[in-house]
Amino acid sequence: MLKENVEQVREKIRAACLRSGRDPKEVTLIAVSKTKPVSDIYEAMDTGIVDFGENKVQELTEKYETIKQPLNWHMIGHLQRNKVKYIVDKVKLIHSVDSYRLAEQISKEAVKKNVDVDILIEVNVAEEESKFGMSAEETTRLVRDAAALPGIHVRGLMTVAPFTDDPEDNRGYFRDLKQLAVDIDRKNIDNVTMSVLSMGMTGDYEVAIEEGATLVRVGTGIFGARNYH
Ligand SMILES: *Cc1c(COP(=O)(O)O)cnc(C)c1O
Repeated sequence: MLKENVEQVREKIRAACLRSGRDPKEVTLIAVSKTKPVSDIYEAMDTGIVDFGENKVQELTEKYETIKQPLNWHMIGHLQRNKVKYIVDKVKLIHSVDSYRLAEQISKEAVKKNVDVDILIEVNVAEEESKFGMSAEETTRLVRDAAALPGIHVRGLMTVAPFTDDPEDNRGYFRDLKQLAVDIDRKNIDNVTMSVLSMGMTGDYEVAIEEGATLVRVGTGIFGARNYH
């Protein structure tokens, strides 16, 4: 079941790349394993997946400790400053940096642990009240300020688009995020590359790829519905 799901997602990623003239190698599939047991992660690993996304610090660190093999862990959820210390030396990428104070804390813990941490700035492209993330106008400033901090590198942008039944509704938001990344890249800020665009989830990753996503975060489409308890 999981294996077929992964194959289907990979096929759709390939097709979306071909449609938009992109090389499928430019797009990395992140399996969002939040709420799912470690046994599901092992099953996904058997299909060749090495990138996993979690949105809670405790769940991420527990799974990290349990699974001893080297995987790329992605922190994709809202991150509290007092929990930064638990993950800076465990994650490949923090997608959800949405304030200067959080960037500062990541920098501080990175320096303390003598690691370099790659981060993305989370942008609330649709300006939804309920969502975390910076407005487009605030983003450039945060990129600039965060880039000046030691121990962290700004690699790009991330967004969580609105929930919708029609992925076409989100095309404009994905296009806006890409354009924002291009605009920021043109400023040639030291210690900043805009090479990573984390956008697209189960409902809309194909459209996101057509608009330039390099990381797609797929949960339900791989693991099935989540069981919250
Ligand atoms: C849960 C989650 C996902 C995956 O959502 P699906 O719709 O199940 O693919 C992606 N990104 C973030 C930030 C999430 O919290």
